[in-house]
Amino acid sequence: MTSTPQPLDFRSDTVTRPDETMRRAMAAAEVGDNVLDADPTIAELERRAARVLGMPAALWTPTGTMANLIALTAHLRRGDRFLAMRGAHVLHNELGSAAWLAGGMPEPLEHDAGPGRPTAEALERAIGTVGPYFTLRTSLLCLENTHNSAGGAVTPPDEHARLLAVARQAGLKVHLDGARIWHAAVALGVPPAALTVGVDTVSACFSKGLGAPVGSVVAGTPEFVELARRTRQMLGGGVRQGGVLAAAGLVALDRVDELAESHENARRLAAGLAEHGWSVPAPETNIVLAEVPDVPAATKSLASLGILAYPLPERVRFVLHRDLSAADVEETLYRIKTSRAKPGS
Ligand SMILES: *Cc1c(COP(=O)(O)O)cnc(C)c1O
Repeated sequence: MTSTPQPLDFRSDTVTRPDETMRRAMAAAEVGDNVLDADPTIAELERRAARVLGMPAALWTPTGTMANLIALTAHLRRGDRFLAMRGAHVLHNELGSAAWLAGGMPEPLEHDAGPGRPTAEALERAIGTVGPYFTLRTSLLCLENTHNSAGGAVTPPDEHARLLAVARQAGLKVHLDGARIWHAAVALGVPPAALTVGVDTVSACFSKGLGAPVGSVVAGTPEFVELARRTRQMLGGGVRQGGVLAAAGLVALDRVDELAESHENARRLAAGLAEHGWSVPAPETNIVLAEVPDVPAATKSLASLGILAYPLPERVRFVLHRDLSAADVEETLYRIKTSRAKPGS
C-alpha cells in the first residue's frame, strides 16, 4: 500500500498561502483606522503601487472584483455601452455587476488579433458612430492583460497603443483589468507601467500568484481616487486597520520578478502534457489550457491522481504559482504518465 499522494493544486494562482516572511510582515505592520483617517501601511502600498503602475494615485481594495466595479461605476452612466473581450472577467466572473450596479450595457469583442485581444479595426467597427438619442452611447473600453480565460494571454505595448488610439479618437474612457498585469510585464520583460500607457484606470491584484492572501488596487488620477474612496465605502470595502493586509501586498510587490519561475514551470507542464498526447497550446504566462473531449471525466481522473485542475468549457485549466515548484511539475507529469491516464478518459 502506498499512502495517498499530496494533492498538487493547479486550480488557480489564488490558492497560495502566505509564507513565513509575509506573515511576519503582516504581524509587524504599522496600522491605523483607514476609515477615520489613514492606515500608514495601506497608504504606503497605495503610493508604491501607483508608482509601479505608472499612475498618479491608487486606492487599496479587498478584491479585484471591487476594484473593477469601482472603476466601471466611475466611467459608466445608464444608457452607456461598454466593450470588453468575450470571456472577460468583468463579463463572466463578476455576476453582471458592471451592468446592474455600474449601469453599462456590455458588448463583447472577439479575439480576432489573437488570444485576449481585438484588432484595432474590429474595435473601430464595434464603437461605430454616434446614433440618435434613443441609441446606446459607447463610452468605455475595458481591456484585460493578461487575459485570464484566454489562457493568461499577453497584450504587448504596441497593440495596446493601437487600441488606445482608436478608443481615444472615439472619445471612450479606457479601464484596464490588470489583475495579472505583473505576469504580462514579466513575460514581456517591461515594467508594468509600460502596459498602462494612456488608460484612465487600472486594477491589479496582489493575490494572484504573488502569495498575498487578500488585496488589490485601483489606480487613476487623484480625482478618480477621491471618488473611488466614496464608492469603496458604499460597497462596504472601507476596512479599518487594513495595514495587516496591505503589508502582504508590499511583500508581494517585492516578488514580481519571481513570476518568471511560474512561467517556466507552465511551459514545462504544457510541453510534458503535449508529450503525453494532450492538446495544449504553449502558454504565454502561468496559465495552461488543455483541450479535452470530456471535461468532468478529465478533472475526475486527474483528481484521483492527486492533481487538482479547474474545469472550463472544453478545457481543463492548470495555473502555476509560487506554491508549485519545478519538482511538483515533474511529479505531476510522472503521475499522469504512470497512470496511463488519457486526456478526458
Ligand atoms: C481574479 C481576477 C479578478 C478579480 O479578482 P478577485 O480578487 O478574485 O475579486 C479580476 N480580473 C481578472 C482578470 C481576474 O483574473
